[in-house]
This record gives sequence, C-alpha cells and structure tokens, in this order.
Amino acid sequence: MIQRERSDGGISNLMIDAGKFFYESAIQWFPKFNAQTIDGLVITHAHADAVGGLDDLRDWTNNAQATLPIYLRQVDLDAVESLFFYLVDRNKQSGGGGVAKLDFTVIDHKSFEVDGLEFVPLPVEHGEGREALGYRFGPVSYISDTSNIPDSTADLIRGSELLILDALRPARTHGTHFTLEQAVEKARELGICKTLLTDATHDIDHYSVNAELAALKDSEHLDIQYAYDGQCIDIQF
Ligand SMILES: [Zn+2]
Repeated sequence: MIQRERSDGGISNLMIDAGKFFYESAIQWFPKFNAQTIDGLVITHAHADAVGGLDDLRDWTNNAQATLPIYLRQVDLDAVESLFFYLVDRNKQSGGGGVAKLDFTVIDHKSFEVDGLEFVPLPVEHGEGREALGYRFGPVSYISDTSNIPDSTADLIRGSELLILDALRPARTHGTHFTLEQAVEKARELGICKTLLTDATHDIDHYSVNAELAALKDSEHLDIQYAYDGQCIDIQF
C-alpha cells in the first residue's frame, strides 16, 4: 500500500494488487496504518495471488466506500471476468447479495495517474512469453513477479531510490520468478542502492538470509534485504 498525505491533511491509500486473501490482510494491517479508504487499486497481472482478493472488495464497496477505481490491462480484466463474472458485469447479479461497485479502467504500457500519483507501467516477463506489469511511482520501482526484465524496462527502473523485487528463493531456478541470486544480480546491474525482496517462498530462512545479504552493504554499498509483512518505508515523492 502507498500512503500519501494530501494537501488537505487527508490520507490517500493506493494499493498494488488485491492479494490472495484481501480480507485477512485488511483486518490485520489497515487499522495499524489507519487506512480507512482505498483510493485506487493497480493490478500487476491476473494470477490468483494478485487478484484473488478482489471478491472481498465487494464488501468494501458495499460497506466502506461507494466505489473503487481499479486499473488493469485488458488481458487481466478478461481473466478477472472469467474468475468473478459478477464483479465485472453487474447485470449478472442474481439478486439478494451485495453487488460490487468496482470501477475498472483498462491500461496499457502508457503511464497513468491514480489519485494524483503517476504510475509508469514496467512490462516484464513472468514466464517465457508471458507479460506481467511492475510499476514505477516516484522514486520507487515495484516488480513483484518476474523471470526476466527487458532492457527497455530496465531503463525505466534506473535511478530509482527503492526497488521492490521478486526473489522467490535461493539457488533453485524457477520458470516464472527470479531466484535470490538473480534478483541480487539485477539490483547490482541496475545500480539500485536499496532493494527489498518480495514474493519469497518458505524455502528461505528470513533472518539468516538477510544476515548474509547485509554483508553486501559493506562490500558493494548494496542495501538488499527480504521485506517482511507490515514493513513501512518512508519515501519523499
Ligand atoms: Zn504471478
């Protein structure tokens, strides 16, 4: 979640992906960060761990706020429609239940604005021949799912102060995700000072791997660590 203070003192909350279980995450984390609105939701791709939580947003638009703007590619909207037809086509409601008021906007590779913040899509490979999007917003680049970052996208990432990057696990390569080693190499290649690794499996021991990664700070001035749930980073936009 990206939290920004508006000029009127209010707080803007933008989310990237709805997670697999939005409800549980919202119950756990929204009160801790005083998140009372979702002012925009940006989708990276339509895998279950990115859009599975969309159904929970039905309740959000029935109880917490009137509507919710969601930004995604046409291919992802098509996938969401096949998973949750009632979220996309409200005419298919059967009556009785709460009808979602999700406001979908189809995006492509062009930058777009959500609640005053510009998002630059970062097209990456997520498995051979399959594209997912990361996003750059201000000095942050966010790529949760990738197995290859094309040169044209690398150019968009360069100069970021913070890179949040897919690093599934150490050693064993995976068809659709970076390994830890591949993620570290990419951060090095892009010259990013601070990188937080995400999308980790249970194959890593968080503390011991982070202790090993900490050595890179002394040897190469690379600050690379696995992120943790609830982590909060201050950014100047
Ligand atoms: Zn995925």
